[in-house]
Amino acid sequence: MVKIYPRSEHCISRSKISENALKVLIRLKKANFEAYLVGGCVRDLLLGREPKDFDVATNASPEQIKQIFRNCRIIGRRFRLAHVFFGREIIEVATFRGSEPDESDQQVVHEDGRLLRDNVFGTLEQDVWRRDFTVNALYYNIRDFSVVDYTGGMQDHTAGVLRLIGDPATRYREDPVRMLRAIRFAVKLGFSLHPDTKQPIHQCAELLKSIPSARLYDEMLKLFLSGYGLQTFEMLRHYGLFAILFPATDKCLETQEQDFPRLFLIKALDNSDKRFASGKSLTPYFLLAAILWEPLQLAVKKRMLAGENETIAYQNAANQVLSDQIKITAMPRHITQAMRDVWFLQNKFTRTVGVRPFRLLEQVKFRAAYDFLELRAATGGSDPQLVEWWTQFQLADEELRQKMTTPTKGSQGKPRRKSGRYRSKVKSAIQE
Ligand code: ATP
Ligand code: MG
Repeated sequence: MVKIYPRSEHCISRSKISENALKVLIRLKKANFEAYLVGGCVRDLLLGREPKDFDVATNASPEQIKQIFRNCRIIGRRFRLAHVFFGREIIEVATFRGSEPDESDQQVVHEDGRLLRDNVFGTLEQDVWRRDFTVNALYYNIRDFSVVDYTGGMQDHTAGVLRLIGDPATRYREDPVRMLRAIRFAVKLGFSLHPDTKQPIHQCAELLKSIPSARLYDEMLKLFLSGYGLQTFEMLRHYGLFAILFPATDKCLETQEQDFPRLFLIKALDNSDKRFASGKSLTPYFLLAAILWEPLQLAVKKRMLAGENETIAYQNAANQVLSDQIKITAMPRHITQAMRDVWFLQNKFTRTVGVRPFRLLEQVKFRAAYDFLELRAATGGSDPQLVEWWTQFQLADEELRQKMTTPTKGSQGKPRRKSGRYRSKVKSAIQE
């Protein structure tokens, strides 16, 4: 049954809505169409948070929307919808989806239950049931500023509960990415998963394998680069989803007796969350290089045992690890190249004599590689003294740099060997 919350019963103020979104809503209204804000923006406004973007739902068809807005493009195949452009801001305007599968080719369901195309248009009442979570199915009506709720989303919102609309297993089968969305929203909003929403995830996790790798890459970035990477990682592992996204890493985490791979990854995620919190930019390649570091090490070890020299082993292992991962999450080439750079520079840090340190300093990815080295040192994976040396080297003037890189007796600039004593520092590094 529908429940309408009038303006006096909710906290959404027009002053918090993007001006461009308001323009779209008002223009649609003036053209005699229904127009609502829907999805994450309503959910976030109700929490008093600033929405990431504003989505509009309407009974106007994509073609009708295009007639109203000149600055508009129709996009999508699986879901056709309109993007209305205002400089850098894009307002996504979607036509209500119908609920009944029809005979035309507008809706295509794969034999495994996945919805491949869904372009049957309908009414708001039908559109509601197509949405994923009840808290994502609240509609802010521009006509009277009320919130329309068909699914009990407002109550769930107040209780901090994330609940899938309809039968959870069926909804996960229709679109397995909803499992990742469940984790992402639970962590981001601090909501708990409703028991029914939680229950089928383990069993349905494998279904994610059917998702195109480009879409999984996009979802993966949202999961890890939105400021809650560490919590997300823990929860994905708990539900067996991390193993689908990063099987090689998951295997390392399971089989290695020591805590190091886990600690390294945790520290990497924690660092990147802290960077996000302080407003710094996050680069996908750094985190991806960290996530796949242990599988890389394992592959290098195997290859070296089989007789490959270190440099060749690193190159071949990187090719292998990256090509396996790309099948699951399609990483663009510039990202994999940057990951390789960060990885390959790691060994070069051990050369602290002669011209090599100067050359390393000039590498484009020097800073990222140095940060990576620091992260490894903080979790027992490399020599903290080496990090210290590089910190000083960067700060030093030319004269000191020359001094630092002049060979002393017995020093040939050979790689330093790791010693066990760093390991005792691991715990404190993580807890700091
Ligand atoms: P945010 O933009 O903050 O990440 P959001 O909820 O707005 O969160 P979007 O991906 O922008 O997420 O989607 C907008 C809305 O579209 C959602 O709130 C939901 O109602 C609906 N939606 C998106 N993806 C799906 C899906 N896979 N299945 C069902 N409904 C979906
Ligand atoms: Mg959104």
